[in-house]
Amino acid sequence: MVKKRAEVNINICVACGVCANQCPRGAITIYKGCYAVVNPDTCVGCGLCGKACPANAIQPIILSENGAKDREKEEKSYAE
Ligand code: SF4
Ligand code: SF4
Repeated sequence: MVKKRAEVNINICVACGVCANQCPRGAITIYKGCYAVVNPDTCVGCGLCGKACPANAIQPIILSENGAKDREKEEKSYAE
């Protein structure tokens, strides 16, 4: 099974906190009121945060077997 995780583009994030409120795993915190940070240990890649983000600042990334980012397999949508 493909493992996914959310990744925040901190250059776009406006620190509104919507994603943190949506996350069922409590995996997102707002760092010093500046931008959202995803905890890779608790994120399950459900995609709810990305759908809720008004700035479209969250994208899914695919993780390879060892948990590292696999840029070759990055997806544009959680729905795929
Ligand atoms: S993908 Fe799901 S579990 Fe991961 S941070 Fe977003 S809402 Fe939380
Ligand atoms: S919902 Fe989007 S803009 Fe708001 S804190 Fe989360 S990532 Fe940043």
